[in-house]
This record gives sequence, structure tokens and C-alpha cells, in this order.
Amino acid sequence: MEEHLFLNQHPAMSAQTQSQASSSLPTYDDVITAAWRIAGVAHRTPVLTSRTADERTGATLFFKAENLQRGGAFKFRGAYNAIARLSDDAKLRGVVAFSSGNHAQAIAYAGQLQKVPTVIIMPKDAPAMKVEATKGYGGEVVLYDRYTEDREEIGRRLSEERGLTLIPPYDHEDVIAGQGTAAKELIEEVGPLDMLLVCVGGGGLLAGSALAAQALSPSCRIYGVEPEAGNDAQQSFRTGSVVRIPVPVTIADGAQTTYMGQKTFPIMRALVTDMVTVTDEMLVDTMRFFAERMKIVTEPTGCLAAAAALHGVVPCKGKRVGIIISGGNVDPKAYARFLAGNMG
Ligand SMILES: *Cc1c(COP(=O)(O)O)cnc(C)c1O
Repeated sequence: MEEHLFLNQHPAMSAQTQSQASSSLPTYDDVITAAWRIAGVAHRTPVLTSRTADERTGATLFFKAENLQRGGAFKFRGAYNAIARLSDDAKLRGVVAFSSGNHAQAIAYAGQLQKVPTVIIMPKDAPAMKVEATKGYGGEVVLYDRYTEDREEIGRRLSEERGLTLIPPYDHEDVIAGQGTAAKELIEEVGPLDMLLVCVGGGGLLAGSALAAQALSPSCRIYGVEPEAGNDAQQSFRTGSVVRIPVPVTIADGAQTTYMGQKTFPIMRALVTDMVTVTDEMLVDTMRFFAERMKIVTEPTGCLAAAAALHGVVPCKGKRVGIIISGGNVDPKAYARFLAGNMG
């Protein structure tokens, strides 16, 4: 298929990157099969519009509301797809994931639905609410001390000892393909787009979205949006190799990743138009906009893409613009403070 040729032959990818990664990079075909696997299980989330947002930007905006997805974020798509792809044997033994956030809950939830045991490695100081939610989905929680222990090491040990399959949050073919189904649904529902704005942590959602947009709306320009304090993906995009940064200080806790994946990076380089950043103040303003005007609860990270449009970081006057709202899992007390207008 054309899009695969484009990806593999794109000049932005060095010969070395291609030979290392292209054999296992997902394609739009994988997004199609992921969509088929999650059909009837993941919610087909609504596409929201707002006259006020359109007037403010001069554009026609289409918001894909993944804050209303099962588990409260798009992560359910990739997690469910990755578990569904395992062999019967691997399903019996179970899976392991490490995360304090939405990926862990998505793996526990998707595992429960497919009767696959899950082990989730979480920091001892993770919010009690998140630990309880993960246990509630049937996940076995293993706590670790994030100052003295290495979670990847614990993950490797558990997978060796118990034969568990490790499912990473973004750098995985089936995870990327699953995440791409949100943009696929969006474009199939509203038609071709001029622009698509997607938030970026490790780049799984962006990579999957880019595969879908390139196939379904070839002239669509794709933008990745990061918190200003943690612009490792923007730096990687500009310099052409994966840049690592210290853990950024931002309210966008779902985008505190410090480097892109070996699979997400080359897809971004080949298909994305530009990478931009927004401030925490813009995120708070956007959370309040969603609450007041559109009556939806969003988490700070979920507002990255919308903030770039509403604050003119990516000019979109006169364009048809797709925006993914990535999640809505926010602690109620913190949410109340954000709405009241302070950052704490
Ligand atoms: C995980 C997550 C992100 C970042 O996704 P990546 O695939 O790591 O880029 C953004 N928003 C929310 C709500 C998330 O849970």
C-alpha cells in the first residue's frame, strides 16, 4: 500500500533507523485490524463541536472525546488490542505493565474483560485512588519504591519468573495500532480534515493517529502537542534523533515521559508536520473552557491538543481541524482547584 512505501522510503528516516525499525513498525493495516478487534468493546466515543470554540479560532473544530472512553482515556484501545493479540498460552500466563497512570488501569481493565491475569507495578506513593481503581479492575498490584528500585528491572524479573508478557505504554506495535483507531473513527465520521492535533507523551497516540490520518485524509497536516516544560519530542523532531530530558515539571502528568519510543519516533519524523508546545496556564484555561462551555471533565494532559488550537499556537483559521481529547482522569480535589483558577 502507498502509505507503507511512503513511510519506509521517507527521507526523514535514516537508513539505520529504517533497518532497525521498519520491519516491526505498525502500518495502517494494523490500525484496521485493531479497529475490528476492539469493535463492540471499546466505546465509539462521540465527536463534539462548539460554536464558541469555532468563533474563537475562526475554524471548524471536531473534538474526539476520549475522556469518555472506557477507563477514562484512549489507552483502553491499545491495551485491549495488545492483549487480544497474545497467543492462548501467553494469555493464560498473564501480562505485566508498569505505570502509575492511565495505561496501568487500561491494562487491568482490558485484562479483566479478556480473562487474562494482570500484574501492575506501581510506585508506593501512587495516589490511593489509582491503586484502588487498578485493583477494582482485578489487577494484582506490586508496589515499588521509586527512589531506590527500578520498575523496569522488577518488570523483567516478574516476566521471567512467571512467564508474564510485558506490555509497554507506547513503544509497541499493537499499542500504537490500537491508539490509531480513535483518529480513524474521527475521520470516518466527519470526513477529510485539513489538520489534526494530537497530544504527545511517548508518542503512541500520535503515531497511530498519523497512520490513520495519512491513509484516510492524505492532505491532512498533523501536529503533535507537548507541555512546554517537557518538549523532548519537539527536540527529537527538530534534531532527527531521540532526545532525552529530565522528568518535566508540568500539570500534564500523562505527558511526563522523558523520551520517545524506537517505534513512535520514526513514524513521527515521517508523517508529522510539526511539533508545538503549550503552557500549563493554557491547559488550565482549556480545562475550564471544556467544563463551562462543553460540560465535560478533562484531565490536564487531555487538553494539550485543544489548548494549541484555542490559544492560537497552531493557527487554524478557515480550516477543518480534528482535536483528540485524550483523557478525563483527574483527581476531583485537584480538578476543583484548576477550575477555581489556580495551578496547585
Ligand atoms: C498516555 C496519555 C497521553 C500520552 O500518550 P502517548 O501515547 O504516551 O503519547 C496523553 N493523554 C492521556 C490522557 C494519556 O493517558
